[in-house]
Amino acid sequence: MCIDCQSFLQGLFAKGLLIETGVDGLYARGGVFEDVVARFDALITRFGNGDGAEVIRFPPGMNKALFEKAGYMKGFPQLAGTVHSFEGNDKQHAELLDRQARGEDWTALQRATDIVLTPAACYPLYPIVARRGALPPNGGIFDIQSYCFRHEPSQESTRMQMFRMREYVRIGSPEEVTDFRATWFERAGKLMTQLGVPFHLDVANDPFFGRAGKILASSQRDQKLKFEMLVPIEDEANPTACLSFNYHQDHFGTLWRIKRADGEVAHTACVGFGMERVVLALFKHHGLDTAAWPSSVREALWG
Ligand code: ATP
Ligand code: ZN
Repeated sequence: MCIDCQSFLQGLFAKGLLIETGVDGLYARGGVFEDVVARFDALITRFGNGDGAEVIRFPPGMNKALFEKAGYMKGFPQLAGTVHSFEGNDKQHAELLDRQARGEDWTALQRATDIVLTPAACYPLYPIVARRGALPPNGGIFDIQSYCFRHEPSQESTRMQMFRMREYVRIGSPEEVTDFRATWFERAGKLMTQLGVPFHLDVANDPFFGRAGKILASSQRDQKLKFEMLVPIEDEANPTACLSFNYHQDHFGTLWRIKRADGEVAHTACVGFGMERVVLALFKHHGLDTAAWPSSVREALWG
């Protein structure tokens, strides 16, 4: 961890921008922080709404069977979170309370439910699109958002366990989705310029698990399938990924059998905005008092 990230996080707590819960990476948001999130959300919409995307908002959990089929546990078992619940009888209930009272693990008396915590906003989208049948001739474009969970506890403000991801997702021909990604590289540059934070674009990879993961990660980089827009927040030397641009080729199209109007397998791409990370970048670069932010930044957000 960087030397002063503790103090940045402490500063956010002191101002009531974030509120501690006792668990690293799990925070409540204060009103001012949320106002900036809402304004940033509206700014994203101003850049994206000319495309006529279908709006879908997801709850923070998704269907476990679909999560299994998506293969998340192959790539990222270390990040996943599942929802468990008690289904026992009176005797087991008493046992559970005894274990709690003794400070022992009581969660083994729960069973997995049909819900897992959503790891990325676009995971629940693909099966929905697939179920509708072949895409219209111009493919599909979606404006989605979800609270996401990743088990990566950290004292860096920018690495949360529960955070929001807004995405635009394009589903269609290879040309349509690569054009979409190129358009968003340009739009995102303009958007971040309006926010007055330093940024640069770079090739990236997902944090695939284990030895096999190293190969997946380097192939993803070699093919330039993932880019990130990075902003220095906690550490000058290690800027933080605030936006991601992912081209999945036909991976999700084949997996979910998403067909284009001409019967070909669909390609997909998404641009993901880390809502909290961008807002943290604003507080880092313009200070903890929003009234003192540069007028151009206030204009972009509050208009
Ligand atoms: P990182 O490399 O920092 O772990 P990532 O590349 O895995 O991030 P993506 O899977 O591309 O992230 O997620 C899309 C966006 O969600 C990221 O660009 C980032 O802004 C945000 N994000 C990812 N993980 C976190 C987290 N733990 N806390 C807050 N925001 C996050
Ligand atoms: Zn996505």
